[in-house]
Order: sequence, then structure tokens, then C-alpha cells
Amino acid sequence: MPEAASSGRVLVVDDVESVRYFLEQSLSHYAFEVIGASTGRGAIEAVSHPVDAVLLDLELPDISGLEVLDAIQLMAHPPPVIILTGAVDRDAPACLSRGAHDFMAKPPQLEELIARVGAAVRVKRLQDDLHSVNLQLTEQAMTDPLTNLANRRHGFSELERLVSASQRYERSLAVLIADLDRFKGVNDAHGHEVGDQCLSESARRLTHAVRASDLPVRWGGEEFVVLMPDASREHADEIAERIRSAVADPPFATTAGPLALTMSLGWAMLTDSETGHDLIARADAALYEAKRRGRNVVVADPA
Ligand code: GH3
Ligand code: MG
Ligand code: MG
Ligand code: MG
Repeated sequence: MPEAASSGRVLVVDDVESVRYFLEQSLSHYAFEVIGASTGRGAIEAVSHPVDAVLLDLELPDISGLEVLDAIQLMAHPPPVIILTGAVDRDAPACLSRGAHDFMAKPPQLEELIARVGAAVRVKRLQDDLHSVNLQLTEQAMTDPLTNLANRRHGFSELERLVSASQRYERSLAVLIADLDRFKGVNDAHGHEVGDQCLSESARRLTHAVRASDLPVRWGGEEFVVLMPDASREHADEIAERIRSAVADPPFATTAGPLALTMSLGWAMLTDSETGHDLIARADAALYEAKRRGRNVVVADPA
């Protein structure tokens, strides 16, 4: 028999076994999944696994419920905490101001218990949805939709971060710029859509040719940048050559039939005092030289 959908995962914290038993039985009856803890430290341990809500007794044998509440508030995505107390008037203001979601007088009435826990779980689920939409938007804001590579904005911010980290820790950083050769001709002869197919395939080949620690970026139209932290000169040259040959052969399969494409590449190593802009400019000058030498070649900046 398939399991019924859970109403939510609830952590019940109370040192008195009979109270815990009542809460667990009541919540389970309404399809909540229940985890129990009888101490404050046990509760903190238990919330390292995801829960949708916490029912928290204030008086515990080891540390106080308020300390548990504080520890939960430090989590990245804390579950809502409902405080259980025998003295609502006395305790509620402090609990709410320290981040509690709600409170209930002990012993709670069944209907109120289910309603308040249900409300807390709904809040948690809305927060979780918001968080995942935020992650998705962040991801989208960093990604070029045609190639799925990092876009220029994300690539540039990673470049700045890597430049300052590499200079501070005296690590190497190589940057290459790659540009498809005579790509305007592909669009002119076969249309923009076929051009786009070639761009996606170029991105795929390029990604395949670099290390997992390198970041390929779609820098502009038919231009790509690869950030290569900790790469030696030999390594940078090897990666650039690997990309060049991966694009040059075999021909690209497109809806207009197989097309032979080539790519020119320039790369440069970071020096002590330059900016990301300077580094890109030197890689770009090397790329310009590669074009001047007749294309389908790799040129290293000498510095
Ligand atoms: P070169 O060897 O000197 O780089 O010649 P090129 O034709 O590649 O260079 P140019 O800069 O003259 O043209 C780049 C072309 O890239 C212009 C445009 O048609 C094409 N392009 C840029 N972005 C896109 C895109 O998103 N999709 C498609 N299909 N084409 C693009
Ligand atoms: Mg107690
Ligand atoms: Mg080009
Ligand atoms: Mg170009």
C-alpha cells in the first residue's frame, strides 16, 4: 500500500515521557512524522536532519529551551519553533523576540495543537519554496541560455575573485580567450539557427577539453573565455591546444549537414599587480595575434 503523504516532519522536545507520548500520538494521528527528543542537546542534534517544525518545551534537564531556540536560529534555514510553556504570559514575549514562530500553553488542546503545527509546517514549506526559487533565479542569472556555460557577468565576477585570491596566495592563474574563425560566414551561408547549433556544440567540446576546476564562460557572441586557476604555462598551453583541435575535428553535425569550423585562441598568465581587465586584455592581444597568423592556432602572451 502506498504511504499517505506526510503532513510534515515535526520534532517534539520534552523531558516528560507522558507529554512526549501525548504529542507524538496526536500528531501521528494527523499524519505528521514525529521525531522525539528528551533533552536540549538531543534536540539540537536532531535538527541537523531536516524537520518542518519544532515543538519545544522550555524546561529541559540539561540546557534551557531558550538556548535550544537560539541554537536553531543560527541554522541557515531554521524550522519554525513553537514553544510549549506552562506560563505563556511570562515566557511568550522573550520567546517571540528570540525568534520563536509561535507558542502554546501546556497542556495543549488537541485541535489547537494540530492547527498551530499545521500552520508552522505551511510557513516552512513556503520558505523552502522561496529558497529553491531563489537558487534557481541565481543559477539562471549566472548562465548563458544557449550554451549553458557561465555568462559574461558571472565569468567576470569569478575572474575578479580568482585574480585577488591568486595574488594574495601567490597561486597561478591562466586565462584564455577563444573565438570561432570566420563565423559570420556560417550565419550568412546557413542562417542564424545553424550558427546557434555550432555555438552550443563548440561550448560542449570546449567544456569537455578543460579540467573540472576550470571555468568555461560564454564571453560574447562567438567568443569564449576559460579561467584556469593553478594552471602552469605548460598546462594552459596544453588545454588551449586541446580545445583548438577538438573544434577543428571532427566537423560539426548541423541541420545543414557537417560543417568544418576552426577556433583561434590566445592565453595569458596573471602577473603580480595587474587587474582582471589587464589579464583579459593580454589574452585578447594574443588572440588577435592568432587571427593575424592565419587562424586555427594558439598564441601565448609572452609575459
Ligand atoms: P574572425 O575569424 O575574425 O573572428 O571572423 P568572424 O566572422 O568570426 O568575426 P566577426 O566578429 O566579424 O563576426 C562574429 C559573428 O558571430 C557575427 C555574428 O553573425 C555571429 N554571432 C555572434 N553571436 C551569435 C549568436 O548568438 N548566434 C549566432 N548564430 N551567431 C552569432
Ligand atoms: Mg520540561
Ligand atoms: Mg570570430
Ligand atoms: Mg568575435
